[in-house]
Amino acid sequence: MKCPKCSKNWVAEIFWGYPSDINSLEESLEKKEIVLGGCIISNYDPKWECNHCNHRWGDAEHNFENTDSFDFDKGYNLDEVYDQ
Ligand SMILES: [Zn+2]
Repeated sequence: MKCPKCSKNWVAEIFWGYPSDINSLEESLEKKEIVLGGCIISNYDPKWECNHCNHRWGDAEHNFENTDSFDFDKGYNLDEVYDQ
C-alpha cells in the first residue's frame, strides 16, 4: 500500500466509529497502522490515511447493523393494491 500522492508506504487504515475495545487497538494506533476516523460516518468515507502527508483516499466499507431497516418497500402491501 502506497500513498497515491507522495508515494510513501507509511499508510494507516482509518478506523471509523467507536472502537469497542480501545486497548486491543492501542499497539496498532501507536505504530500508526490504524488511525481513528471519528464517530461520524457517512457513505463516502476514505479507507486509508497517509501518515506522511495526511492524504486520505479509498472507500471505507461500513457494516451498518441496521441496513435492512432501510427497506422502504416494507409496509407496502401488494395484496391491497391488487384488490382494488
Ligand atoms: Zn502521502
